[in-house]
Amino acid sequence: MELNDLYRDVILDHNRRPRNFGNLDSADASVEGFNPLCGDRLTLRLKLHDDTISDIRFEGQGCAISTASASLMTEAVKGKSREEALALFERVHQLLTDDAAPEPSELGKLAALSGVREYPARVKCASLCWHTLASALKAADLKSLAAVSTE
Ligand code: ZN
Repeated sequence: MELNDLYRDVILDHNRRPRNFGNLDSADASVEGFNPLCGDRLTLRLKLHDDTISDIRFEGQGCAISTASASLMTEAVKGKSREEALALFERVHQLLTDDAAPEPSELGKLAALSGVREYPARVKCASLCWHTLASALKAADLKSLAAVSTE
């Protein structure tokens, strides 16, 4: 099987059966993301335990790439620290936008998103969930700061 076929199968599978899809009760942050270029919408909710993303879920409607990307992202960042998750965001962003970027083997299944590079109009579809994640981590941060200041 060619690598491109493998990548396509990963995207199709995660679009058909998105992981971590649904609501999340008592989340520490809930952030909505919207990609006007394609119409993709998602709501990302996460829980932080100390500095670790202990749970994360998404809901919404979008194209196959945005759904698959969000599914792959939630799988990849669950159990990771905030810093690790943001570092992963940087590497994925490079994978999506930089033709010269080697396909980093440590990205695992996320490497399947590298095919999107050929379609610049779809990069926003794949990166929407990551930008939303960065906002959610910031929102969770502000919430915990607010909690500290009212103690
Ligand atoms: Zn899209």
